[in-house]
Amino acid sequence: MKFIKEITPKGLLLPVTAARLAGFNAGDKVEYHTLDGAMLVLKGRMSAPELLAVVQQLTSTSAQLLHYLSEVCGPCEDCDKDSCPYNDFEEEAVQVNEYLREAAGIPDGAKLCAEVDEEAHTITVLAAEHRYDLRDLPADLLETFMVVGACLGRLEEHLIAEDTVYGG
Ligand SMILES: [Zn+2]
Repeated sequence: MKFIKEITPKGLLLPVTAARLAGFNAGDKVEYHTLDGAMLVLKGRMSAPELLAVVQQLTSTSAQLLHYLSEVCGPCEDCDKDSCPYNDFEEEAVQVNEYLREAAGIPDGAKLCAEVDEEAHTITVLAAEHRYDLRDLPADLLETFMVVGACLGRLEEHLIAEDTVYGG
């Protein structure tokens, strides 16, 4: 079940109803696991069936979140096939040696893009202005998005823009 709460200066107070629904009893010890963008409150003591039930529910929650994002991106249908990397996405990063990168004043870790001039036979390597793109997606997640037919082009647009895709 989902509850919406605002974090106050005193912290995040979880309603007793939520604790009861989660099967926590008065006096139970709980564990907080802080993740990047999420918090997980686990029962401090669990039996094997309880622990497995938690694992299954977490897996299903991840699947729901991924499904949500794939719905936001929509199916890859009538988008421009040239710009949508759905068909021929290659996970190859542009690489230059450290000396050249430093000489160009490009910070370490910046994403690199290459522009090709076929007539002049030159390749210009430049630092991308965005922080995230499809190259940041672990292979299994990328595979999941491809299997459901979600538009990777739109997914990449959201990664680059870092706009809100969940919640208001
Ligand atoms: Zn597409």
